[in-house]
This record gives sequence, C-alpha cells and structure tokens, in this order.
Amino acid sequence: MKQYDLIVIGAGPGGYVAALRAAKLGASVAVVEDREPGGTCLNRGCIPTKAMLHSSQIYHDIRCGGPCGVRAENVSIDMEALMARTREITAKLSAGVEALLKAAKVDLFRGKGVITAPGAVQVTGEQEATLTADRILAATGSVPARPPIPGLELPGVLTSDDLLRSAQLYDSLIIMGGGVIGVEFATFYNDLGCKVTILEGLDRLLPTMDRELGQNLGLIMKRRGAEVVLNAMVQSVEQAEEGLRVNYDQKGKAGSVTGRAVLCAIGRKPYLDGLFAPGLAPEMDGPRLKVGADFQTSIPGVYAIGDVSSKIQLAHVASAQGTACAEALFGDPEQHDLSLVPGCVYCRPEIAAVGMTEAEAKEAGIPVKTGKGLLGSNARNLIIDGDRSFIKLVAHAESGELLGAHLMCERSSDMISELAQAIANHLTADQLLRAMRPHPTFEESVSDALLDLRSKLRA
Ligand code: FAD
Repeated sequence: MKQYDLIVIGAGPGGYVAALRAAKLGASVAVVEDREPGGTCLNRGCIPTKAMLHSSQIYHDIRCGGPCGVRAENVSIDMEALMARTREITAKLSAGVEALLKAAKVDLFRGKGVITAPGAVQVTGEQEATLTADRILAATGSVPARPPIPGLELPGVLTSDDLLRSAQLYDSLIIMGGGVIGVEFATFYNDLGCKVTILEGLDRLLPTMDRELGQNLGLIMKRRGAEVVLNAMVQSVEQAEEGLRVNYDQKGKAGSVTGRAVLCAIGRKPYLDGLFAPGLAPEMDGPRLKVGADFQTSIPGVYAIGDVSSKIQLAHVASAQGTACAEALFGDPEQHDLSLVPGCVYCRPEIAAVGMTEAEAKEAGIPVKTGKGLLGSNARNLIIDGDRSFIKLVAHAESGELLGAHLMCERSSDMISELAQAIANHLTADQLLRAMRPHPTFEESVSDALLDLRSKLRA
C-alpha cells in the first residue's frame, strides 16, 4: 500500500493541472486515470474539434474560393487523413501530459479509481493498487447526456464522442442543440458540404450568451446553407426510409426533419459512475458533486473540481479550480477570480465573451452603457475576407468600469483575455484606451468600441 499527500482521480485539464501544482508545492501525488491522459479536453473535446475545424476551413476555402486565391470546386475531402491528423495532435498532447507528470515525479496509475473510504482509493483495471492519502481529489469530468427522448437509442443518433471516433462524412446531419458543441460541429460539417440542420429549443443559437451573438450567428449559418430551427423542442426520433426523422414541437406546432444521422448535443452530465464505493454517499447539487468554497465535498478530505462539480463545464475552469485547490491544500494560496470565466466558440467568425451582458446588468439593476466597434472597415478583417463582425463592450454607466465584453470576430478567442484582465482588475474605458493597439489588427476594433463607449459615458 502506498501513502501519498494527494490522490487525484482523473487526468483531464482539472486533475493533471492540480497534480502538477501540488507536486510543485512539494506534495507527493498519485494520479489515477482509466483512459488517455488529458481527459475529455485533449482526447474527445477542445483539441480534436479545433483541429478538425482548422482542416475543414481550409477545405471550405479551397472549394468555395476563399482568401487563398485557389478555387477547386470538385476537390473531395479525405476524412481518414483529416481524422488521422487530428488523432496525431491529440496523441502528441496526451503524451506531453504523461511526460509532465513523470517529470514532476507524480505517479500515474492506469485504471479505474474507486474511493473506498475517506483517504483510500482502490485502483482496478490495467493496474491494480491500493492507495492511501491525506486528501483525495475527484476530477472525473463529464460525459455526453442523453435525455429520455424516444428514439435516442437508435443507431445513427450520435454523441460528440461518437462523431470524433468515426471518420464518416454524412450528406445530411441533424444537430439537436444550438449551444457551443452543436454550433462547432455544425460549422465543421457545413464546411464539408454536409446539409446541416440545427434544432434549438430556445429562441436563438448560443442562448446563454449575449443575444446579438446568437442572432448574428444564426443569420450567418443560414447564409452558408445550414438550416436553423429555433424554439424547436425535440419530441422523438424515428427510423425513416431516407434516414432518421426527428419530430419536434415548435410553439405548439408539430414539425419534422429528416437526415442521415443525428448529433445529440444538448449537454453533458458529471461522471461519477463507480467513483464511490457502496456506503459512501456524498451530497449532490443536482447531478453534480456538491462542494464548498474550498472544493471539499461532504466527505471530509475528499475534494472535487472541474466538470464533475462545476456548473460551468470548460477546460480552463477545471484547470483554474485545480490550481486553486492545490494551492489552498498545500500552502500557497494565490488570488484567483474563479467567477470571471471567458468563454469561446470556434465557429466562424469566432465568438468570445466574458463578464456581464447588457441584459444581465439590467436585470441586476446595474446602470450600464455599451460601446460597439464594427469590423466592416477593419483592415485585418478585410484581408482575411472576414464575415459580419463586431465587438460589444459593457461598462458601468457612472464609473466607466468595464463589466462585460462580447466579441464576434476572428481571433476573438485570442483577444478576450485582454478584456478579462481588464474586468478582473476593474479597469475603466479610459484606462483601456491609454495604450495604443498595433495596426493592422483585429484589436483596433477594441479601440473603436472603447471610443464609442467613452463618448456614450460622457454624453
Ligand atoms: P475531463 O476532461 O472529462 O477528464 C476527466 C478524466 O477522468 C477522464 O480522462 C476520465 O477518463 C477520467 N476518469 C473518470 N472517472 C474515473 C475513475 N473513476 N478512475 C480513473 N479515471 C477516471 N472546453 C473548453 O474550455 N474549450 C473548448 O473549446 C471545449 N471544447 C469542447 C468540445 C467538445 C466536443 C466537448 C465534449 C467538450 C469541450 N470542452 C471545451 C469542455 C472540456 O472538454 C471540459 O470542460 C474539460 O475537459 C473538463 O475537464 P475535467 O478535468 O473536469 O474532466
């Protein structure tokens, strides 16, 4: 039996980051992982989808005559090669995580970890071991949710995991759910010439984000040939001659759409299967493990981070929680603002947002002004042949402090951190205008939005 300061179950972006931070702070650490190191993010989430989107954009630009100046309408896509490249990238990154753990002298156990008692973990599977530790950190992530809708068990109804495993190109695909995962897969398959239909239950795509983002994206996707059906609640899926028929209710009216396959992208559920031995029943917060501000569950010495316990399921949230938890446990607590979460969508143009929307501020009774920068004449956007793009900033009407940023433009996933730092450090529009922004960049439109904001704040 081996004794550690910390046993981490799950080597996703939450678990492996926590393990590395704890080891750096001098703790002896074991990580238990029953699949590939890197978790959902590296193997079935963030990374493969972005690699695929990169490839599909190149293919789309060649087929439709994008900014590369080449047009070859009859060129066909090699899905095997595309997926092989994707797998190569994820394998490289996963091996990198393993190497980092090894270099930090973290013991990696391959197998399923079961918490048998506070401080005790049984590893079964590829490796068998009994481990003990002062603290256990559950970082077991999440898996695709399948709601109890009749027909979702039919072959051809797929999850993101299934699509990432297969190298299949469908001539038509119905996507249930217009959230981030649905929209990214819609972009990918639309690029490849597949007839995509998105069925979204609410009144716009990306319904948790600023209204203008989802509405504009809907228009752009429709212009590119995708069908976007809003307020459509899926009732059932059935086998039809031409493929699968999805029946939905749209404000009391029945509708249906038929496609070769269906992607069910309506959320993910925390993964806890077999994590706790019978008799151990931690308190739950709905489907999630309930944790306090110190990440501790109701079982003393058992902590949880990431998708298994967090309302916001994002890789950087899992990593930030992992770092904060390790620092709190092993004595180097830093100031992290875990409430301010940037979110990115890798559609085209990219979407990135952080902080409050105008509607949220109004609902909270906070007086705000908004400033907008349109990228119609942004040189960089013209160079890349970018689509309808804008930057919208929300600031406190009296202090001018930035409260939110909502971007729809290429590279916005690389731009949002400047604005997140500004919000975290309570910077005002005036302060954000102090330094110049280089030319030609998309960032220049942040200056335009700030200037617009400043004029409204002074009006
Ligand atoms: P996970 O990454 O899920 O890792 C948990 C690990 O624990 C897994 O490796 C699992 O095998 C292991 N495990 C579970 N139970 C046990 C057990 N009992 N014993 C041993 N091992 C166990 N987020 C972003 O921030 N940006 C994106 O662009 C993005 N894109 C995404 C695209 C898709 C298609 C999907 C599905 C998700 C995406 N996400 C994205 C979300 C992101 O992947 C997750 O939020 C993140 O991976 C959560 O990290 P985690 O460490 O909590 O859990």
